[in-house]
Amino acid sequence: MTKLQATKIQELKGSFRGEILLPSDDTYESARKIWNAMIDKHPALIVRCSTTSDVVRAVNFARDNGLVLAVRGGGHNIAGNAMCDDGIVIDLSQMKTASVDPAARRVTIEGGATLADLDAATQAHGLATPVGINSTTGVAGLTLGGGFGWLSRKYGMTIDNLESAEVVTAAGEVVRASAAEHPDLFWALRGGSGNFGIVTRFEFRLHPVGPDVLSGLIVYPISEAKSVLQRYRDFVAKAPDDLSVWTVLRQAPPLPFLPKEVHGKEIVALALLYAGDPKQGESLIEPLRKFGTPAGEHVGVQPYTAWQQAFDPLLTAGARNYWKSHNFSTLNDGLFDAVIQYIEKLPSPQCEIFFGALGGATTRPAPNSAAYAHRDALFVMNVHGRWEDPADDKSCIGWARDFFNASAPFASGGVYVNFLTADEGDRVRSAYGPNYDRLAQVKRKYDPDNLFHMNQNIKPA
Ligand SMILES: Cc1cc2nc3c(=O)[nH]c(=O)nc-3n(C[C@H](O)[C@H](O)[C@H](O)COP(=O)(O)OP(=O)(O)OC[C@H]3O[C@@H](n4cnc5c(N)ncnc54)[C@H](O)[C@@H]3O)c2cc1C
Repeated sequence: MTKLQATKIQELKGSFRGEILLPSDDTYESARKIWNAMIDKHPALIVRCSTTSDVVRAVNFARDNGLVLAVRGGGHNIAGNAMCDDGIVIDLSQMKTASVDPAARRVTIEGGATLADLDAATQAHGLATPVGINSTTGVAGLTLGGGFGWLSRKYGMTIDNLESAEVVTAAGEVVRASAAEHPDLFWALRGGSGNFGIVTRFEFRLHPVGPDVLSGLIVYPISEAKSVLQRYRDFVAKAPDDLSVWTVLRQAPPLPFLPKEVHGKEIVALALLYAGDPKQGESLIEPLRKFGTPAGEHVGVQPYTAWQQAFDPLLTAGARNYWKSHNFSTLNDGLFDAVIQYIEKLPSPQCEIFFGALGGATTRPAPNSAAYAHRDALFVMNVHGRWEDPADDKSCIGWARDFFNASAPFASGGVYVNFLTADEGDRVRSAYGPNYDRLAQVKRKYDPDNLFHMNQNIKPA
């Protein structure tokens, strides 16, 4: 910070309701940490906004002082775009208020909320909207990239349920984007990531869900993986939209329902949620138990919010993470051979490969109906390289990249923007697909100087 900027910070402090953190402040260190411990950036200041007006002030301050600007929602993005070096971080993590209108089946929620905040507010009324599978993820980043989870086959991507958004633009204006107001911006927000402004409030449509749902895990040994995966593929192709079954291949954590001798051994787990009447779900999921000889299972009727948090203990903040991802429109046997080969040489006990099953309602909108283009993606595969010791960086990153290359011949070519790592700039066009050029036009209108560039960046046309 130059002396001039230090004076200006005093001016910003004068009108700011939230907190302004400088490197000399006690809480600066914890505030600059995000989910992925590989990210180690040192911003000049972190402004923790309390209100939309704070966000406006911070945007104007960043723009007028020519500062690099990063925006932090839930801080989960693997690429670490929520932080920057030397510039300003506009941190929304204190803006989490949710308000539900149960009669209209709508929720409005602020731009720093997590999925846990959203689920807690909506499930108090037996309602929900589809979001991701790890409750500490930010609503903002997830939604702006598309968003999918256990309810998506039934109710679509998160963006398919977005009704409106309050946005602070690069010019510091507060606008509402919806089908009727700024429709070009509304189109771009639904999959165009954080390129177009800071969303201070989201409004989602809600659906009756649970509050108790049939959900859980069925675990098979890796020796049965090939036939389990083949049967899984055939099963999912005929499954109703109410039923989502994902697969995770990894070493078994010490889960109480698994025999001790399975702990630490390679497994394939089927993770499922049935979004309809649990009694009907029971008979539908019965074939999943007959794909082989399960090593254990933990399936039952439990609160939707509990299932939304079931994976949190495996996905805690503070580990080192490196991801690689592909979309698939079909899963074929050659892919299964590659997956099994790489699971048999996991470089760390926390590494895993998962297949999220989309399909159903996610595939019905036209690919140009919103910025999210991948309506053909039936499976999103993510290689989660995850470990603790920096000494393992090379082996874990190498493993993820090698499997990514081995699985590439079977992939559709598209990729989910929210799973891109920091070194995948060459895949940004694939992430936005055929919608890239239209996005670049909207970018030119709302952010011609690319103030919002700490994201999977779309250059103004
Ligand atoms: C453990 C884990 C599990 C996941 N599971 C799923 C899943 O099941 N489904 C799924 O769809 N995705 C999933 N994701 C991916 C997730 O959607 C992305 O990481 C997403 O970017 C996280 O959003 P965030 O707000 O937490 O991240 P941040 O890192 O805070 O932000 C991500 C990007 O969005 C921008 N941004 C943040 N807030 C705003 C805002 N209010 N306005 C404008 N721009 C903003 C940031 O600048 C940054 O570029 C998962 C991620 C993790 C780490």
